[in-house]
Amino acid sequence: MKNRFPFASVTVLLAAFACAVQINAATTSAQTSNTSKHRPVVTAAVETDSVAANVEDDAADDATIWYNHKHPAKSLVLGTDKTFGVIAYDLQGKQLQTYEVGRINNIDVRQGVFESIDLVAASNRTTNSIDFWKVDRKTQLLNSIGSISSKLGAIYGFCLGVNATTKEVYAFANSKTGQVEQWKLNEEQGRISGTLVRELKLPSQVEGMVADDELGRLYVGVEEAGIYRFEMEADGSKKGKLIDNSSESNNAAIKFDIEGLTIFTQGYGKGYLIASVQGNNSYAVFDRAEKNKYLGSFAIETGKFDGTQETDGIYALSKPLGPNYPLGIFVCQDGVNFDGAIKKPQNFKYVSWATIAASLELE
Ligand code: CA
Ligand code: CA
Ligand code: CA
Ligand code: CA
Ligand code: CA
Ligand code: CA
Repeated sequence: MKNRFPFASVTVLLAAFACAVQINAATTSAQTSNTSKHRPVVTAAVETDSVAANVEDDAADDATIWYNHKHPAKSLVLGTDKTFGVIAYDLQGKQLQTYEVGRINNIDVRQGVFESIDLVAASNRTTNSIDFWKVDRKTQLLNSIGSISSKLGAIYGFCLGVNATTKEVYAFANSKTGQVEQWKLNEEQGRISGTLVRELKLPSQVEGMVADDELGRLYVGVEEAGIYRFEMEADGSKKGKLIDNSSESNNAAIKFDIEGLTIFTQGYGKGYLIASVQGNNSYAVFDRAEKNKYLGSFAIETGKFDGTQETDGIYALSKPLGPNYPLGIFVCQDGVNFDGAIKKPQNFKYVSWATIAASLELE
């Protein structure tokens, strides 16, 4: 962080060529990514406004996206600030709304559940609860529609999951001690409540989680052990499987902590599981299919905006979001946000999925 100044000035000089340089660098590195330590790099297309915290605060954490089916370019990025609540941004990174609802940690979304609810849910450390909002499709505002008191000692990580067949909706919450609780959600007259249906235990501190709805899996990031995979259904085994090459001990590209997890879907069963690898400021990409094969890692380096460091939450969406994101988008928290030489409060970066796919030669 301290040595950014010289790079910043070089970057400014190269800004006009950023696009071309980017593509060439990405292509070259992708060719050697499996045989050398060289790691493909991409750059952010957009960064959001900084959060309202102090420069040194660890405040921004996780993000998700509410997709506007009618006007995709008007979709909302919903970021958490774990000091006060939720922030809505547009696709240009401009802050639109803030919701001061407590120390919101992780956030997730499922649209069209319970027939017509665009459901946003998050873990709230102020109230030790899972909080629910409905996105008003016209105003694009979040309206509170319920809350579940967690039985965990102190709620931390969070994700949603939907059974692709039965359409049952689940909320998963965890604690730093490795406990995971699974709630089956119920909707009545537009309000959400839940029934605790399963509890899991991981070996040590956890946070990032993501559910693969179509394949019926729950992935849990154990910060200093790797990524564990469970069956998503409540009657599934309580025994998780550590996925290959998701640990420091068997993959040189992994450096703990494992933080945020997300899934980039590509039709039934296809796509990628992505993990924020906080120890070396990179993102590890695994095949979403049966064996979760490790495919490579990328980093976000300085281009028009600063690169990313110490990323917590990530979110990928495989829908076109206008000309800047023809194949979809990858959103991530940036733990250390510089504007040139000036350190700013944390924010979120947006990357076009097309650049990530090119860098790793993904389909
Ligand atoms: Ca952090
Ligand atoms: Ca999330
Ligand atoms: Ca963490
Ligand atoms: Ca940064
Ligand atoms: Ca976090
Ligand atoms: Ca910046």
